[in-house]
Amino acid sequence: MGQRDYDAVVERVEAVSGVDVYELGEVEGLPVLRVSAGKGDAPVVYINGGTHGDEPAGVEAALAFLEGGWERWVDGVRFEVIPCLCPWSYVHNARLNAQEVDVNWAFLRDDVPEIEILKGFVEGRVFAGVIDLHEDWESPGFYLYEMFGDRGPLGREMVTRVARVCPINKEAEIEGEVAVDGVIHPNMEVARRKYGEGIPIALYQRGHTGHLVTSESPTAQPMDVRVAAHLAAIEVMVEVNVYPQMNADERR
Ligand SMILES: [Zn+2]
Repeated sequence: MGQRDYDAVVERVEAVSGVDVYELGEVEGLPVLRVSAGKGDAPVVYINGGTHGDEPAGVEAALAFLEGGWERWVDGVRFEVIPCLCPWSYVHNARLNAQEVDVNWAFLRDDVPEIEILKGFVEGRVFAGVIDLHEDWESPGFYLYEMFGDRGPLGREMVTRVARVCPINKEAEIEGEVAVDGVIHPNMEVARRKYGEGIPIALYQRGHTGHLVTSESPTAQPMDVRVAAHLAAIEVMVEVNVYPQMNADERR
């Protein structure tokens, strides 16, 4: 395919009303944008898209969320959204960046611009939840990876909600990990040995969040189905985890 139009992504972000937009830095001359939506002191959910440039459904879902979705929780949650962490990869429909690095597994490197941008953004921040939006070119259905702390897992509930809009991958093993009805609770030590320190592992193990979900939509499905799947997963993270927690804290 030809080059994807990143200007269109920037224009859609800038057209969202009621949010603050920041430029976190540039990759090959393309701005990486951060969108902040909601109350300043509320628990924060970080939504990330576009780490892999050949997985556009994550970018589309992040944009769709900004264009209509977050307002219903505006009194209790703040959203930090990076719709496209790797704009060069997105433009070129490439899994790797311009240096031929898989950014998702390059957290420990200090010479990758996308990683420097991400590190600058997460520095000193703790998120109530993080959801990283990806897609899988080979999977027959949606699945997710979940790392969770003391609030308990939400993966099963997410998959139940996603199943209303998108097929689920029900295989017992996905990408070499044990999966139960589309939910993988990864063995982080195995992943680390296999691939190095990935962004999700780093954000979770370095204390930036107690709940991290990597949402994988199936590329074989139409874009609107993949977007709906990601939005359903985001909805469960906010509604079941973060939003009630905030209300419980206020009642105390
Ligand atoms: Zn991916």
